[in-house]
Amino acid sequence: MKIGLIDVDSHNFPNLALMKIAGYHNTKGDSVDWAWSFLHYDRIYMSKVFTFTTDDNCPYLANEIIKGGTGYDIKSTLPIEIDNSQPDYSIYPECDFSLQFYSRGCIRNCPFCLVHDKEGDIHTVEPMDLNPKGKWIEVLDNNFFANPNWREAVKHLKKCNQPVKFHGVDVRIIDEEQARALNNLRLKNGVHIAWDLPHIDLTEQLKAMTKHIKAYKIVCYVLVGFNSTMDQDLFRLRTLKELGITPFVQPYRDYENKRIPSQYEKDIARWANRAWLFKSMDFFDFEPRKGFKCKLYHKE
Ligand code: SF4
Repeated sequence: MKIGLIDVDSHNFPNLALMKIAGYHNTKGDSVDWAWSFLHYDRIYMSKVFTFTTDDNCPYLANEIIKGGTGYDIKSTLPIEIDNSQPDYSIYPECDFSLQFYSRGCIRNCPFCLVHDKEGDIHTVEPMDLNPKGKWIEVLDNNFFANPNWREAVKHLKKCNQPVKFHGVDVRIIDEEQARALNNLRLKNGVHIAWDLPHIDLTEQLKAMTKHIKAYKIVCYVLVGFNSTMDQDLFRLRTLKELGITPFVQPYRDYENKRIPSQYEKDIARWANRAWLFKSMDFFDFEPRKGFKCKLYHKE
């Protein structure tokens, strides 16, 4: 079969589903390549992760076109035989890192997050083959330490002997053993955690974490615009500042991508996400537009 692939989002991050599709069809002896609009294919796979990208300009020729990915349908999954295939990194020759999962799903069901709806409760999965050209590993687990087999995962990462970047470490559950395990790995760009729920005070958990992992190695995502007040946003950000942890403010985007962040959300993200601004002044002293200091938000 002649297979064409389309990464509808065309963003900078490799599309794992397309790599698995390529790996699956390669093992069957099919020819697999990125689709060209002037060629005819037996089958084209279109993958879309984000709802805001469109596939309107895809006049491709094929006997069959299969569309998949969260951008089309939150419940979209790969057929089991493809999901169990090893990713073919050769479709992204510039990619010099590996993607890895040791678990899917999550123990939580946060109201702003699609993970539980899409992947269900946390469950261990077999790690995939690494990118032969990979220099580090992006661990994409949603909640790495909620996996009951996290120790095996850490052992596997140590054996791989490459720097590791974690995308999902849940500071609410991390204990001393886990913090030590993290610190004993070669970390790339630190550890990424989140403080999304404004009514939960994570100060003590963050303090405990910084006993084992240096604060400057921690980046904390802070969700704003989802049922939080400015006081709750500032409490979280000022606490992170006191502890020396780098924040990354994310204004809430809904699945349909219809919600537009408010000016306040854009301003607080602009302040917090620029290290020199965040470190040098308080949000109330930040002047994003001439004559407008952010302390005015407090009076609105
Ligand atoms: S802990 Fe993270 S991954 Fe899990 S449901 Fe909440 S936001 Fe989603």
